[in-house]
Amino acid sequence: MSATGEEPAGLYLHVPFCSAICPYCDFAVLVGRRDKRQRFVDTLLAEIALYASRQRSANEPSRQRRANETQSPDTIYFGGGTPSLLEHDDLERLLEAIRRTFAPRPGTRIYLEANPEDVEPASLDAWRRLGVGTLSLGVQSFDDDELRFLGRRHDAAASWRAIELALAAGFETVSVDLIFGLPGQSASGWRRNLERAAALGPDHLSCYELEVHERTTFGKHRARGELDELPSDEQAELFLLTHRLLAETGYDGYEVSNFARSRRHRSRHNRKYWRHVPYLGLGPSAHSFDGRRRWWNERSLPRWQRALDEGASPEAGSETLTPEDLAIETIMLGLRTAAGVDLERFEQHFGFDLAERNSDLLERSIAAGRLRREDRRIVPTLEGLAVADGLAAGFELST
Ligand code: SF4
Repeated sequence: MSATGEEPAGLYLHVPFCSAICPYCDFAVLVGRRDKRQRFVDTLLAEIALYASRQRSANEPSRQRRANETQSPDTIYFGGGTPSLLEHDDLERLLEAIRRTFAPRPGTRIYLEANPEDVEPASLDAWRRLGVGTLSLGVQSFDDDELRFLGRRHDAAASWRAIELALAAGFETVSVDLIFGLPGQSASGWRRNLERAAALGPDHLSCYELEVHERTTFGKHRARGELDELPSDEQAELFLLTHRLLAETGYDGYEVSNFARSRRHRSRHNRKYWRHVPYLGLGPSAHSFDGRRRWWNERSLPRWQRALDEGASPEAGSETLTPEDLAIETIMLGLRTAAGVDLERFEQHFGFDLAERNSDLLERSIAAGRLRREDRRIVPTLEGLAVADGLAAGFELST
């Protein structure tokens, strides 16, 4: 939904460092030693300070948009990259600056992405003491061959150990990321991964399909004919297996890639992206959104750093969404969630009845078993979720 200020904003901090770069990774990441990481933290503090100074001058009408950008968040997300590589003192410095500048709401949820190799009792304890509520572990697989193929630095035993330690440490939510659809991966191989994850019982699971992006190492291998992607019908089979098996083991598939043991373990932060709630992104490549306008920072660490060293904004580009853009995104994002599209809310925001304008399409999609009507909602079936983006593309918005 277009932003209405009805939900608190989110804050995202992009930490671009990893101990090595995975061959499928398309994020803005690099390998950086400790001195580089500390210089990064200093610059991130400068970016926070830049927003603090804008907040102070928010009374000027021309600064009003900036005031909206900094409305009190109720989520703080350290993503990357590998934020678990940051020193605990650096995380503490960042959180202190965030508290001073953005005045997060009581009960704000702090998220931290961590790789299994960084998980030790002492680090878990430090993250808990810093207030981290959701620890998100980049496990990816419980199979050593798959982990090697993905270029990961941990093995299956480290995945198990990290999850068990994290669950015992008392976080509100422990989330585990897995990847499926590797070249040659069989349904039984992927099933074993899911069964292992479910047996360990994290509160939340994110299961992403392997995507091969052109500029990555895998992309180059594919261009040379050295990497055969899994055919799309086999990918679809693994997607359906994921949702069915996890539903049987007590995980609610509340979004295309996300599964929670109960409502309280669903991602409050990601929900903001799905519902057009404003968020502010800090760090190289981070994106922000104020309800109409989306803007993004310089992707390269040196360029982002240089701008802030000069006291300038590291913004690299922006786009202003038209009501039609927002409506299309609302349908696309809604149909990727089990809650679907709320027709009442849609009409309030966009001024027309989506179901009435698309009655033929809805009829066909319902007959094909891809959508269903639930009171004043359009909800995807599991088969619909599997082709959610294609479903959304057929909707007509103009009269
Ligand atoms: S650990 Fe994650 S962010 Fe880092 S290179 Fe690998 S996939 Fe990319």
